[in-house]
Amino acid sequence: MFDPPPPEPAEMGRLDDAALIAAVEGWARSAAAAEARKYAAIAELERRRDTAEHPNWACDDWDAAAAEIAAALNIGHRRASGEMDIAVMLRDRFPKVGAMFLSGAVDARRVAVIADRTYLVQDSTALTELDAAIAERITDWGPLSEYKLTQAIDVWVDSVDPGALRRTRSNARSRDFKVSDPDEKAGTSAVWGRLLATDAALLKQRLAAMARDVCEDDPRTTAQRRADAVGALAAGSQHLRCMCDNPQCPAASDDGRASSVIVHVIAEEAATTGSPDPYLHGEDPVGDDSAEDTGSTKAALITGGGAVPAPLLADLIAHGAQVRPVVAPDTAPEPRYRPSAALDEFVRVRDMTCRFPGCDRPAMTGDIDHTVPYPAGPTHAGGLKCYCRKHHLLKTFWPGWSDHQLADGTVVVTTPTGRAYVTKPGASLFFPGWAIATPAPPPATPATPSAYRSVMMPTRKRARMKARADRIKAERTLNDAHVAERNRPPPF
Ligand SMILES: [Zn+2]
Ligand SMILES: [Zn+2]
Repeated sequence: MFDPPPPEPAEMGRLDDAALIAAVEGWARSAAAAEARKYAAIAELERRRDTAEHPNWACDDWDAAAAEIAAALNIGHRRASGEMDIAVMLRDRFPKVGAMFLSGAVDARRVAVIADRTYLVQDSTALTELDAAIAERITDWGPLSEYKLTQAIDVWVDSVDPGALRRTRSNARSRDFKVSDPDEKAGTSAVWGRLLATDAALLKQRLAAMARDVCEDDPRTTAQRRADAVGALAAGSQHLRCMCDNPQCPAASDDGRASSVIVHVIAEEAATTGSPDPYLHGEDPVGDDSAEDTGSTKAALITGGGAVPAPLLADLIAHGAQVRPVVAPDTAPEPRYRPSAALDEFVRVRDMTCRFPGCDRPAMTGDIDHTVPYPAGPTHAGGLKCYCRKHHLLKTFWPGWSDHQLADGTVVVTTPTGRAYVTKPGASLFFPGWAIATPAPPPATPATPSAYRSVMMPTRKRARMKARADRIKAERTLNDAHVAERNRPPPF
């Protein structure tokens, strides 16, 4: 893409410092240019898939295209949809900025800021002006922080289309609370949120009060107690159970955290008889080898769709978590469409998440799919898997998608372009020792048009484009009030 291309690693040892820095910059430009080409390909796919034939389908044209992008990039549905938003924005709204991105002069981070800050601009003349102004100036602006870049773009948005400026109050509208998938650090999940300031103050006070609830022999740090207090709140308790050894402790009563957990035992039974790890609580130990985290996942188990390391599990069980052994299902298919509770549980625990490539939605709340539609395909562990609702609809209603399943639970998804993606059951990744292979189901009887195929695709109340236009209109209406207020002459 660049002539001459930046130096390769083998040459770098011979470069002086200035040339080395130039190599860093050169490869960063190269990475941006490559990224821009990826978006160009995404935009072209979106254009081809946008038939506007199914605007009201719950899994619409956009979703079906996003599923192809998600599988190709191995990312979740929401992120794939966000990638498409940026691709379409560059194509339709910011061709000049897009050209700079292709040349490597603008990077993906700046493009994301531009996408966000100009989201409300709809007038095509204003957009053309904005595209030209930003493309002309963005390199002059130099290395701006995200905050400064936001302000610089806002100045231009305000000058071409005051109603489109994303005002501070959009921060209040952007409140959210997210709990990540339990995959970042073993046995923990990250939480992120933006609350109204009043709610945040309530939460802060409550957590602090709960963290103070326990007696002074509690082994946890204040930070750990605050974190545990969030779990107790979620279990419906307003107090945190003390973790001292004294049964007479006034704060020893159950806070519902452990007793609300169901542990599905799929690994060695021994895991449920282990003893709690004394190093789970308190400060990081210094100079004590036995406190080393071995990082072992052996004999870990699952609760509600996530894997829990063995020591954490023993702690949960010691405090009242319910233990449910997961039984390998019968070899014979079940004689009905809906799987029994035991088979349902086995399939969910085996899969852990939706089995579509890149999708992390939890299996516990998803759909169970007959890989070959019933009754041709039997109700049997070797022919059942979990899909989230979106991907279940995609497979059922969108032409060109197909999947098949192997006895060990491996699923191969084939996309409309004929690309095949393989996904393994979550349990086989976390618990390699667990024999989850089930005997292959009997061969499918020749496919008869399934009764379940005639089910209609559920529909949206508002088509995606209408919903987006409504959101933009609502935000602009609030802005117009703000602009009118700003322009009102002083009372005297
Ligand atoms: Zn105590
Ligand atoms: Zn899914």
